[in-house]
Amino acid sequence: MWQKKIAMIKKFLLNPWTVGIGSTVCAAIILKIFDLLVGTKILDYIGGALYTSLKFLYNLLDYRLPIGLFLSILLIYFLYKRINLRKNRRPIYLDYKEDEFQGILYRWSYKYLNGKYRIEEIVAYCPTCKHRIVHDQCLNCGAVYLDKKNRQERKAMIYYGVEKKYNINEFHEFGE
Ligand SMILES: [Zn+2]
Repeated sequence: MWQKKIAMIKKFLLNPWTVGIGSTVCAAIILKIFDLLVGTKILDYIGGALYTSLKFLYNLLDYRLPIGLFLSILLIYFLYKRINLRKNRRPIYLDYKEDEFQGILYRWSYKYLNGKYRIEEIVAYCPTCKHRIVHDQCLNCGAVYLDKKNRQERKAMIYYGVEKKYNINEFHEFGE
């Protein structure tokens, strides 16, 4: 039972409000003692400055700055932050769209589906002349490339490429 109480007291003491208000009150008491001992008026001075700045802010909001403008600025600020967040969420590997695996050049694209990016449209190219390989043969130079990998195996290969290149766990990122 007492353990629970201690835990509760601990929680209360570590609460940011308790810490904030507590330290402010402590600072005020220390300043008051200091003022009493030395005969200064530091606390009164700080209190006065705080009151003045709060009053200034209040006046600014109340009279000088129309609330509409204030809210607009706030709204723009939050929208800007949201857009920025979304931008930051764009995975770095979306720029990784081609690589050579086992002597064949592959190019692919990503598709956003259910909150994740998936690899789509994997196409094989001749690594020498960058032309498409159709039926195991380069359409341009006629070089033969035997590629027995199915779609799933090609995807796995690219997931692995992402993992290696960006140090991202492919299973966390792509699942499936
Ligand atoms: Zn070729």
